[in-house]
Amino acid sequence: MSKTGIIWDSRFLKHDTGKGHPECPRRLLAIKEVLDTDSTLIRLVPRAATEEEIGWVHSKEHIENVKKTANADHGYFDLDTPFGSGSSESAFLAVGGLLEAVESVWTKKVDNAFAFPRPPGHHAESTRAMGFCLFNNIAVAAEYLVRQKGLKRVAIVDIDVHHGNGTQHFFYDRDDVFYISTHRFPFYPGTGAAHETGEGKGKGYTLNLPFDALGDDDDYKKGYDEKILPALHEYRPEFVLVSAGFDAHKRDPLGGMKITKGGFKMMARNLLDVAQKYAGGATGAKIVFVLEGGYDMKGLQEGVEAILEVIHG
Ligand SMILES: [Zn+2]
Repeated sequence: MSKTGIIWDSRFLKHDTGKGHPECPRRLLAIKEVLDTDSTLIRLVPRAATEEEIGWVHSKEHIENVKKTANADHGYFDLDTPFGSGSSESAFLAVGGLLEAVESVWTKKVDNAFAFPRPPGHHAESTRAMGFCLFNNIAVAAEYLVRQKGLKRVAIVDIDVHHGNGTQHFFYDRDDVFYISTHRFPFYPGTGAAHETGEGKGKGYTLNLPFDALGDDDDYKKGYDEKILPALHEYRPEFVLVSAGFDAHKRDPLGGMKITKGGFKMMARNLLDVAQKYAGGATGAKIVFVLEGGYDMKGLQEGVEAILEVIHG
């Protein structure tokens, strides 16, 4: 059994998206039911990220726009991205919670970690909130590893059913962060075609695996065997970050895919193997998972269980 750290905090429930929104606080309560069954998980305490940290990837104006919502009742950044008066606190804590998970793995306080913040992050762009996401949590975490720890090869693997347009854009022309995504395509947000492979120094360090609707475990397994694993073995990542959305689960109301618990286990197993081989060795695998989407409560629970069964044992 590995020492697995988790970030779960009731302050993530303060991000109120309003009645009927799929990205609702109830998602985290469903996940809590899973976490509460295992007393061996190590509860890490999130901190608020600083404006300087968030400023590594976001414009000052966007950070100010998020901060301002603390004084608002309820509103929208875009058509599907609402906020309430608690959203700013949740958003700063979401980024900082992931940074705490990364730092805890880095210092070997834990062997690996899974952070469960709200709001999610991978659609957030430099200058704006988008697609339920306020700040791009995982992009800040990758920058943290590059800037604060001096890493030269950080892999981000995005298993959410939607393409992480924001994350891809931040690192599109860089080779120190390799962005890999499996997603339904064409689908929201429109990006993520196979020919989007990076530019300049980053050419070849963006890998998109678009799948038709109703993609299943076999399709994903083939993608891992033929594309993702060879790319990761060649890159030899020093740290693996995973955008763990569970909206590709067969029960999900938005995703339209057929991934089962077994499929999520396959992904986690392969990514943990890569991390163990290149990012840790005898000192533990440097891998951190962070929640993105996933809108069926049972689907979320099965997805989280799948990852924890692999990384925690
Ligand atoms: Zn999604």
